[in-house]
Amino acid sequence: MTTVDAQLCAAWITGAAALVAEHERELTELDTAVGDGDHGLNLRRGFAAAATAVADAATPAAVLKAAGAALINSTGGASGPLYGTFLRRAGKALGDAETVGSGEFAAALAAGLDGVRVLGGAAEGDKTMIDALGPAVAVLGGGGDLATAAPAAYEAAVAGRDATASMVARKGRASYLGERSAGHVDPGAATTVLLFAALARAVGP
Ligand code: ADP
Ligand code: MG
Repeated sequence: MTTVDAQLCAAWITGAAALVAEHERELTELDTAVGDGDHGLNLRRGFAAAATAVADAATPAAVLKAAGAALINSTGGASGPLYGTFLRRAGKALGDAETVGSGEFAAALAAGLDGVRVLGGAAEGDKTMIDALGPAVAVLGGGGDLATAAPAAYEAAVAGRDATASMVARKGRASYLGERSAGHVDPGAATTVLLFAALARAVGP
């Protein structure tokens, strides 16, 4: 049975920072097609700041709150505050226990998702990060140990990201393109896939 501690959460955030840095160019290309081309740079900087911020955090809540605050404070563009809110709200939903179980962790991420929905006002089908984040968090909430739920959540994020390709954007900069936004994957949904890839790796053997 997986127990989530500060170390696992920090490995998640630093792993996400590494993956975002590795994929910066691809994220920038996606945002060049439907937005203003800053997504890769924004999130590389934001997640790097988050990875630095979690170094001394002693509980899962402290790690997620520190990472979220760093993303909110140091990231340009719409997505930094949205991802920051996801992590900070998830952290706030956890108490100060040194370890939490898979169910509590899943419930915290669901609270984080609610925060993103409230802040951004987007729903599934609007061609945003919600289209990957929603299905991934739903899989975690379906129960089961995080060791098996996290890879399944990653798969759900991939499917959600891929589904954004045919969608017409209704939120964010991509919505300015109207029908022309169809045919491209949403950059924020692509970043969500990296976030869940990092979670699966952090949880995995
Ligand atoms: P900006 O659009 O300000 O340049 P980024 O390029 O960093 O910001 O991020 C764009 C991504 O943010 C989009 O691909 C989308 O996934 C996400 N996004 C934008 N607006 C919203 C919103 N209202 N709700 C949820 N996600 C959003
Ligand atoms: Mg952009």
